[in-house]
Parts: sequence; C-alpha cells; structure tokens
Amino acid sequence: MLEPEMQDALNHQFNWEQTASQEYMAMAAWFEGLSLSGFAKFMRKQSDEEREHAMRFFKHINDRGGQVEVGSITKPRSDFGSPNDVFQAAYTREQSNTKSIHSLYGLAQERKDYPTQTMLHWFIDEQVEEEAWCEEALHLLEMVGDNKSALLMLDKRYGAQAQDGD
Ligand code: MG
Repeated sequence: MLEPEMQDALNHQFNWEQTASQEYMAMAAWFEGLSLSGFAKFMRKQSDEEREHAMRFFKHINDRGGQVEVGSITKPRSDFGSPNDVFQAAYTREQSNTKSIHSLYGLAQERKDYPTQTMLHWFIDEQVEEEAWCEEALHLLEMVGDNKSALLMLDKRYGAQAQDGD
C-alpha cells in the first residue's frame, strides 16, 4: 500500500510526464510550421515517449493499490525563435525532470518504499539518455549555425533517427 505522501509525489510526476508530452507536441507543431518535418517527427516521438513514461507511473500507482489523480496541464510554450531555442527549452525541461525524478527517489528511500525505488531505476537511466540527446542536438545545431543547407541535412537525419526508433 502506498503512503499518502508517496502517492501524491507519484501523481505529481505522472502529471509532469503528461505535461512534458504536451510540450514536445507543441515543439513538433512549431517544426511542422517551418516544414522541418524531420525535427517534427523526432519531437512527436519524444511526445509519445513522455506519455509512455506517464503510463509507467499510472500502472505503478494502481499496482500498489493507490489512486491515480489526473491533474490539469498548463498550456505549453508554442513560440520559439529558432531550432536551437527549441532544443534549449527541451534541455532545460529534461534537466528539471532529472531533478524531479531524483527527489522522488530520495523520498522513496526516506520512506523505505522499495518497490518505488526499483521502478525509478529505469527513469534514472532514462534521464541520462534524455539529457544526452539534448546536448548532442545543441552541439550539432551550433555547428550548423546559419547554414540552411546544413540545417536541412540535420532535419533529415533527425527524421530518419525517429523512424529507426533510435
Ligand atoms: Mg519523461
């Protein structure tokens, strides 16, 4: 059985993953608006993944006899200045999500909630991956600079990556 404080914290994370899913969808829409369909596909995939993350919390809360509380989602940011701006926003969001997962893990340790600790191991690893792709994209976009042809090549590469399920 979940302690009320653990349940609240897990529900908070469930809602945050759902929020992230909406944020990535807004980023996908922004890229679609510029006909950068590779980046758009990549962001749609991130959006799908965040929803899957939310569902892991949904399942965990239910499996532990808790009650899922579906919260409201704030309208995500939808205007960006450049592709770099989008990936910077993604990076900032992933960094704060890493902190959120770590503090949830800290609470689970404090409360000796071993099942939650175990399920969070996957998320701790996942956050390392999430921050890594953000850093890589920012490095590549820095290399691209103002070169439109290079940007189109990168767009194609991200589209192919999303297709391959990388
Ligand atoms: Mg996530």
